[in-house]
Amino acid sequence: MPVNKRVFVGSIATETNTFSPLRTDLQDFKDSFYKPPGEHPQSPTLCSAVYPAAREVAAQNHWDIIEGTACWAEPGGVVNQHTWEFLRQQLLDELQAAMPVDIVLLGLHGAMVSQDCNDCEGDLLQAVRTLAGHDALIGVTFDPHSHLTDERTRNADIITVFKEFPHTDFVDTAVDMIKLIHLTSEGRIKPCISTFDCKMIEVLPTSREPMRSFVDKIKSLQGKDGVLSVSVIHGFMAGDVPALGSRLIVTTDNDKPYGDQLARDLGMELFSFRGTTKPELLVPAAAIDRATRLIDNNDQTPVVIADVWDNPGGGVAGDSTIILKELLQRKATNTAFATIWDPIAVRTCFSAGIGAKLPLRFGGKMSATGGEPIDAVVTVRNTVRDAVQNFCESVVPIGDSAWIDIDGVSIILNTVRSQVFDPSVFSNMGIDPTDKDLLIVKSTNHFHAAFSQIARTILYAEVDGPYPNNPATTPYKKLTRAIWPRVQDPHGFSN
Ligand SMILES: [Zn+2]
Repeated sequence: MPVNKRVFVGSIATETNTFSPLRTDLQDFKDSFYKPPGEHPQSPTLCSAVYPAAREVAAQNHWDIIEGTACWAEPGGVVNQHTWEFLRQQLLDELQAAMPVDIVLLGLHGAMVSQDCNDCEGDLLQAVRTLAGHDALIGVTFDPHSHLTDERTRNADIITVFKEFPHTDFVDTAVDMIKLIHLTSEGRIKPCISTFDCKMIEVLPTSREPMRSFVDKIKSLQGKDGVLSVSVIHGFMAGDVPALGSRLIVTTDNDKPYGDQLARDLGMELFSFRGTTKPELLVPAAAIDRATRLIDNNDQTPVVIADVWDNPGGGVAGDSTIILKELLQRKATNTAFATIWDPIAVRTCFSAGIGAKLPLRFGGKMSATGGEPIDAVVTVRNTVRDAVQNFCESVVPIGDSAWIDIDGVSIILNTVRSQVFDPSVFSNMGIDPTDKDLLIVKSTNHFHAAFSQIARTILYAEVDGPYPNNPATTPYKKLTRAIWPRVQDPHGFSN
């Protein structure tokens, strides 16, 4: 009888926007997702798909799973040091109690920054390696909007990263990582990680070219010529850390020279896409003008406008009122807007009750650049405790929420920050999104997968606010490497 392998699973995840007016503490993790050992649901979350995926492998192989705490905080501002040290120590204590282990599987985000640590995930992986020992295998999944450091590649045996943006492949990413760890544990492969620094930062949606074909290409390379896995770290422009920027990760079956070459070739191909990957970004007035023309011409509705920078998924508050104010001034009708984060206004709507009509001040609280609060007489159309939306196989909380109406403009106010992923954000509140002419959503691109199923026209609006959306001019302090677009020729071709 083969001896069962002991496998520890853990997850600590958030994305830190170091420019955000918010701060992140333990309560933010508890509000979003916090599951003590053994309490992780069967459904995955974005960064914790390693749990259900590991359970599946364990059922088919000789694995004993020991689960640690899994937690996620909606992207926000810098994590306070006490919270980071508590979460880190909690995971290490759980791992210590599980020792000896053969395998550690971690679902991380990769862009967590605390008050005193620029590289929380590198720090964690180093500590896990020290504790688990050099014979243990460590597998980790990352979100591509993260930072890659030597501490991470040195201490992990397998790293996989969501390839898609929208991240519709988060389950596949966990399954792929665990499959490679399993093969390694059986001595059938010997993974070797190569990386390449593309020296750039760019928004890289894979729902459009040229990234669509690039992702298809890197997928086709996997499983051939000794290539086990190819991943792209897009980078996260709102996290001011020394490692900020795009990187390629190629894992080969013990072929470092080929891995290095492939990482370089693919990395330079990615670099060649700079400046061409973003969709057309319209100023708010132009986006509404274009949407109005389409609606007036009886084009297929709903039309969707994404507020791409006031995206809570990028760590800002999600309470900007700039587009909403423009819509109200134009007396828009048959429009629905998701969401504005305002716990105080939601509390007032719950107190007023469904059907109440009242003067309400909401939104525009958390930054000097996200617009003024809105003052309006609103009708409370619905209130929902612990409201949620879907994102692929996962369920994402938006907290106690209120649907208010201002003369035909429906607005969802929420209490747990989340970007908009899916039309269920509307339907779960009682709003039929397919009935509306115009939908406004706060999200950079994750909304695209599900909303493209109900809308033919999707417009992207760039609205100034607290998100540092122009890396050429963002006042970074810790990023000191030369990267595009801060310098035009970071690879020194002209030397
Ligand atoms: Zn991401």
